[in-house]
Amino acid sequence: MNDNASPQESLDLLVVAQQQFDRALTWAGELKTGLVDYLKNPKRTVHVRFSLTLDDETVRSFHGFRVLHNRARGPGKGGIRYHPDVTEHEVAALAAFMTWKTAIVDVPFGGAKGGVVCNPKELSRAELRRITRSFVIELGNTIGPHTDIPAPDVYTDSQTMAWIYDTFDVLHPGHNNRAVVTGKPIELGGSVGRDAATGRGCLNATERLLGDSIVDGLDSIAGATVAIQGLGQVGATAMELFHERGAKVVAVSDSKGGIADPNGLDPEAVMAHKQETGSVVGLPEVMTITNEDLLAVDCDILIPAALECVLHSGNAADVKARLVVEAANGPTTPAADEILRDNGVVVLPDIVANGGGVVVSYFEWVQNLENQQWSLERVEERLETKMHRAVDEMAAMYREILDGNDHDDGTIPVLRDAALVVAIRRLSDVVLQRDIWM
Ligand code: NAD
Repeated sequence: MNDNASPQESLDLLVVAQQQFDRALTWAGELKTGLVDYLKNPKRTVHVRFSLTLDDETVRSFHGFRVLHNRARGPGKGGIRYHPDVTEHEVAALAAFMTWKTAIVDVPFGGAKGGVVCNPKELSRAELRRITRSFVIELGNTIGPHTDIPAPDVYTDSQTMAWIYDTFDVLHPGHNNRAVVTGKPIELGGSVGRDAATGRGCLNATERLLGDSIVDGLDSIAGATVAIQGLGQVGATAMELFHERGAKVVAVSDSKGGIADPNGLDPEAVMAHKQETGSVVGLPEVMTITNEDLLAVDCDILIPAALECVLHSGNAADVKARLVVEAANGPTTPAADEILRDNGVVVLPDIVANGGGVVVSYFEWVQNLENQQWSLERVEERLETKMHRAVDEMAAMYREILDGNDHDDGTIPVLRDAALVVAIRRLSDVVLQRDIWM
């Protein structure tokens, strides 16, 4: 481990998002005056405060945010997160990531994100239901099937989405409101395959990238060793699917810590233990490690699937993987990107790697508007096509900017720059064609 593990840079996710954007702009070609300011900043930030009675009859106030970053390509789209560390900056950064993600995976949405400052681990189901209903009531008409469409994120799930739909539907009777939110239970208009979509999209994108000879010495998931930080909806699915494809999962973690076994963990046993005890820690006959150790585990593929800024200037040099697959949003800081690149570690950026969630959210939205239910086969086939196309476009742009790289300061691009350039150009084209005026 690096002795000096404290980061030397800002870990404010909004600063990170804007640094990434500014970096990519240098390869994006000339943009019309004023366009950069328009593309960089959110269109709308809603900050609400609501109070409710908890189960113990005390009253507590909560803060919630919904940021609409851009909707030139379609309605805002992005998850709602319940976490004690939610801030306006974090939500704004995540909304911007959604704008670039929906553009690179090419679904007709803009970018948005929401969050409520709360700790779901200390709240009952009834309290979470009341928080969700109050938040939706406060958001009022800022969300809607054709304006801004929420989805699950950290510590929210299909049940939360069901409450959002129900509250919105009560407030707007007489319409088909199912498309107001995605990630719903199947019975309420959810799409088959949505739960696993982000993890499956990670798999599709990783397979495509490895087939493109961009990662030195690694051309297949089969036989690769994998470490996963965060075993929630995304990380647990990734563990299962990468294992199914022949990878050996050597380390995993959750908020309580991690476990490792160089001979390979048994995903079924890991999940059974987590379901029984609430954590992966304590599984018999494996090593216990910290979340920081997990990032430095000897493996081919590292999948951060929990929170942001976990790879920074203080620990990026410790990464031994050859490929980092960003299942989480914003796990790598710009300084870490450069350290990893200099050490020959390729980063498959979040806006591509975890784009499978929003792709299947788009499929769900289409099914809701048409009152249809697609088969799992159809969802998975179309998801794979979208993910492959996004990786191909990113890889082609990467080669183009590498070939024509004329940066005097010697800045060498990374895949994230290429993905952002594709997204920025795609959105700019639409903005200029529409002649945006409000
Ligand atoms: P989740 O709530 O289902 O799981 C989060 C996981 O992270 C849990 O296992 C938790 O124990 C773990 N965790 C929390 N704090 C941690 C810490 N400090 N160290 C290590 N692990 C920690 O959330 P999710 O939906 O799986 O989302 C995970 C990431 O993927 C987030 O960055 C989210 O923005 C991103 N993402 C999710 C989706 C989706 O469809 N759910 C789509 C795109 C991106």
